Amino acid sequence: MQESLLIIGVGFMGGSFSLALQKNGYKGNIYGIDIKEEIVKEAKHLGVISEGSVRLEDVTVFKPDTVVLASPVGTFRSIAKKIKPLIGNNTVITDLGSVKGKLVYDLQRILGNLYVGSHPIAGTEKSGVIHSRADLFEGKKIILTPTDKTDTKALEKIAFLWERTGGVLEFMDPTLHDWIFGAVSHVPHAVAFALIDAIDKMSNTTDLFRYSGAGFKDFTRIAASDPIMWRDIFLENKENLLKTLRVYKESLAKLEELIEKEEREKLTEYLQKAKTRRVSLK
Ligand code: NAD
Repeated sequence: MQESLLIIGVGFMGGSFSLALQKNGYKGNIYGIDIKEEIVKEAKHLGVISEGSVRLEDVTVFKPDTVVLASPVGTFRSIAKKIKPLIGNNTVITDLGSVKGKLVYDLQRILGNLYVGSHPIAGTEKSGVIHSRADLFEGKKIILTPTDKTDTKALEKIAFLWERTGGVLEFMDPTLHDWIFGAVSHVPHAVAFALIDAIDKMSNTTDLFRYSGAGFKDFTRIAASDPIMWRDIFLENKENLLKTLRVYKESLAKLEELIEKEEREKLTEYLQKAKTRRVSLK
């Protein structure tokens, strides 16, 4: 029987997942459900999906063997509850969400052991299906977060789909995932949003943004990311984010102190250490 995949939330990531599979020879049907009619139309027009709907109930029409949750993470639990009675007993489900941890265990409780968490470490500040790219996942890490209950066949199926996108698989504990990505992804986004807020506050007499150069633009590029997506990530990974932000504020306070006290050598050391760390990143 022909494979069929349903993407719920046909945006940048869901669209890229579809295009990547198609580019690499996936011959099954790809359907989509989104809350917005115009997005469904656009996704069809772009060849991301063959058919689509704005009604979750239409899961029964599409009869997918795989469902991919690709909407903001704050919507996953309620979508999972709604689709659970509508999908077949053998339907495998995954998600593309940036947060795993407790969310994975909740989704597993709702959807059963054929649910497999995944998080592609790929993306940009762009959102919307219009920005979907077939090459988005090529050579990029794809984190899969099975638990001890995850069905082996479901895991194999999701891993196989990801391999077809050109992604490189890595397996990780869901809780560890949130600690790691809280630090290397969620905090930098929080800091970038906050910096824009601070510069905005100081722009009451002179528009400081008019004078921003490449450094400012590089540093704050990610503050152009989708607010709903990031609100959901911050709230879903709240504990790790707050812990990591506290450590960040200590580092900032240390830097402040060294400048305040004009500790030239220690300040150089602090900056040199950070530079060496940054330069060593691959
Ligand atoms: P996006 O805004 O481009 O797409 C999200 C889509 O979901 C939109 O089309 C929106 O209309 C739809 N949607 C919203 N609520 C819905 C609902 N209740 N039911 C059905 N559809 C709904 O966002 P994106 O960048 O594609 O992000 C999607 C997911 O991928 C998020 O969970 C995010 O955490 C994850 N992710 C994003 C990136 C990235 O860089 N953008 C990277 C890794 C993971």
